[in-house]
Amino acid sequence: MNEMNRNFESTLNRADNYAVPLRPHHGMCLAYFKGYGYSDDFQKHMGEMLEFLVKNIPVKLSLEVDEICSACPNNQNHHCKDAQCVKRFDKGVLELCGLEEGRELLFLDFVKIVQDKVLAPGRRPQICGNCQWNEICSAENSRWEAL
Ligand code: SF4
Repeated sequence: MNEMNRNFESTLNRADNYAVPLRPHHGMCLAYFKGYGYSDDFQKHMGEMLEFLVKNIPVKLSLEVDEICSACPNNQNHHCKDAQCVKRFDKGVLELCGLEEGRELLFLDFVKIVQDKVLAPGRRPQICGNCQWNEICSAENSRWEAL
């Protein structure tokens, strides 16, 4: 079992008791995820995390690397190599959603707020319009529309 799988297993095991750390901007990434990502491991893990979180797992909004980041090649020694950029994304989501770092809530409640405050009003590009995945997200409907 590699480190990523060990971490994910520990996330699964503690989810009943603890809020899982989640970068706020990942509430947008997960809205449009359709199997693309930074590496094969990342794509697989992102799909697993989506499946896991939509069970309405408690999350804690965090501006540090999270479980999704654990499989990302940009995660270097627990630090995102695009840290400044992604922190701006995170802070943009928090600001538009009226939430703060450290806030704990259920995943589906969180992404409903993201949908209502950011995605539905078309404000996502003002936060992450310069992201390399922007074109893909722009062409997709948010899966949170269904909430
Ligand atoms: S690019 Fe950075 S924030 Fe995004 S998943 Fe990778 S490590 Fe995490």
